[in-house]
Amino acid sequence: MASYADFHRRSIDAPEAFWAEQADLIDWHKPPEQILDACQPPFARWFVGGQTNLCHNAVDRHLAARADQAALIAVSTETGSERVWSFAQLHAQVQAAAASLMALGVGRGDRVLIYMPMIGEAIIAMLACARIGAIHCVVFGGFASGALASRIEDAQPKVVVSADAGSRGGKVIAYQPLLDEAIRLSAHKPSAVLWVERGLAPLVCQARRDHRWAELMVRHADARVPCVWLEATDTSYIIYTSGTTGRPKGVQRDVGGYAVALAASMKHIFDGRAGETYFSTSDIGWVVGHSYIVYGPLIAGMATIAYEGLPTQGMDGQPDGAIWWQLVHKYRVTVMFSAPTAVRVLKKQDAALLRKHDLSSLRALFLAGEPLDEPTARWIGEGLGVPVIDNYWQTESGWPILTLARGVDAAQAPRLGSPGVPMYGYQVKIVHESTGEELAAPNEKGVVVIEGPTPPGFMQTVWGDDERFVNTYWKSIPGKLVYSTFDWGIRDADGYYYILGRTDDVINVAGHRLGTREIEECVAGHANVAEVAVVGVADALKGQVAVAFVVPRSGLAASDEQAARLLEGEIMAAVAGQLGALARPARVHVVTALPKTRSGKLLRRAIQAVCEQRDPGDLSTLDDPASLQQIRARVGR
Ligand code: AMP
Repeated sequence: MASYADFHRRSIDAPEAFWAEQADLIDWHKPPEQILDACQPPFARWFVGGQTNLCHNAVDRHLAARADQAALIAVSTETGSERVWSFAQLHAQVQAAAASLMALGVGRGDRVLIYMPMIGEAIIAMLACARIGAIHCVVFGGFASGALASRIEDAQPKVVVSADAGSRGGKVIAYQPLLDEAIRLSAHKPSAVLWVERGLAPLVCQARRDHRWAELMVRHADARVPCVWLEATDTSYIIYTSGTTGRPKGVQRDVGGYAVALAASMKHIFDGRAGETYFSTSDIGWVVGHSYIVYGPLIAGMATIAYEGLPTQGMDGQPDGAIWWQLVHKYRVTVMFSAPTAVRVLKKQDAALLRKHDLSSLRALFLAGEPLDEPTARWIGEGLGVPVIDNYWQTESGWPILTLARGVDAAQAPRLGSPGVPMYGYQVKIVHESTGEELAAPNEKGVVVIEGPTPPGFMQTVWGDDERFVNTYWKSIPGKLVYSTFDWGIRDADGYYYILGRTDDVINVAGHRLGTREIEECVAGHANVAEVAVVGVADALKGQVAVAFVVPRSGLAASDEQAARLLEGEIMAAVAGQLGALARPARVHVVTALPKTRSGKLLRRAIQAVCEQRDPGDLSTLDDPASLQQIRARVGR
């Protein structure tokens, strides 16, 4: 077996030869004429001239060998339902869905926004879009009207696919009021909404705009809709992510590069094989869901499990801390993917639950989305008796940047606290944040950057805004055109990287990325808020939670605890109502002033440090020291 270092070196020294080989892992209608076009940096165009289709690679191409094998397994402990589609059944359903979308006027290049819970229909809708060359834009079902409206406005979808409701921990969240309000708020109005009825919440259909999924699917049940052959460089989807401004960024991904990147990662990183079952506990609203619930496993010919519900609830709705392991046993799962936060939830339960079911099929557990702390890694690794592989990546990258390539060299040992080494195709460097100088010596802290050309699967650009793509990601390090991850990191003497947190105002709540600016804008919308600062504060379970500090507009004495509580409640409800429960601050503290520099810049890092009992660092620029004292008093530190 080749050493991983050689494998990686070849991908950097001879990227075209390396990726031409990987391109053989997928089906092409027309092979690429040029492997890489990097003549307009930082834009990298992969597999130019090639024609392919994600849905063909995920579904159709498996029909010959595995038509009757399970492809999609949708399990909901919220509704107690378990449904399995074979590749042949998925093929038929996706064609019916594609015909339904076409009947609503959707064609190649049109956007379809998918605002759905984790149900099979959501994945069928995504594959249907891919089939006809429509660009899907999946918005996490936990987001509320405000967040949804800004995404509708930016993506300008022709059609929205949704459901009557989602459910979490038995609490039903009706989607129709949220979506109707979002459409009302948005300047762009989709011409049609397609509703999946689960019978969880009432649905009132507007004449002309609203359509029922079940009716259209029956009407088009026998439709034959061939895959549209797309250019490798066409756009497959947009997924929104948070950044330093209140405006979410639409991460735009291609077709061919993404298909190849996922196929290669299934082989080299996840070591998942055709005919086996993959179980990712994520949600299609996140990039992990796109890459490793939907496309990755299916492209590899694996069955994929889509799971709706808490990690601690059984099919009968009763508590069951072993439900995931029951599914691993039942479906002979070989590769599992989750997030540290979910493991920390399980960790509150009896470790014996990890051994309640037969886990002999499982080869490894991959965890991503946030730093993996050592106690959590140890607990789950020892409990399951399989390797736990941390992997570091971003919505922007689409697949792991740092991890271990177990399919290339199974002997590479995980190192606690480190997600691993740069994956093939990635030239990762640590640079000084203000000089841009490379920090080549081990254990020096700097910004983690990626040198272009970025590998296949990496974001093409920001949807509709090339300039924002270049300025945001590629121009933040002085004097160098390099991609900034906006994460701090170090590399040890053996080349293993360690991620030390964000350099910007992005926070990570239960593995989900949120922009504090977005939350601040929402809080500032409250009539009695004059100023606000939102920071991420370390939390034992969720990694981080949002904490807000507000200066009220009028009439609220800092000592009036009752009024402060009332305002806190109103602000929490407003954020949950506009952005979603995930973004709701864990606490809202009322203060009379916020710490700022003399030039008026908010010192969020100092606030965060105080909240986390850390040294706030250099305070020489602080205008009003009493403001920080007040925060200290508020948080009881
Ligand atoms: P997202 O785009 O939502 O996937 O968030 C990406 C961010 O999550 C990264 O920039 C990191 O800050 C953080 N992150 C993701 N995976 C890891 C990991 N394995 N270790 C540490 N941080 C991570």
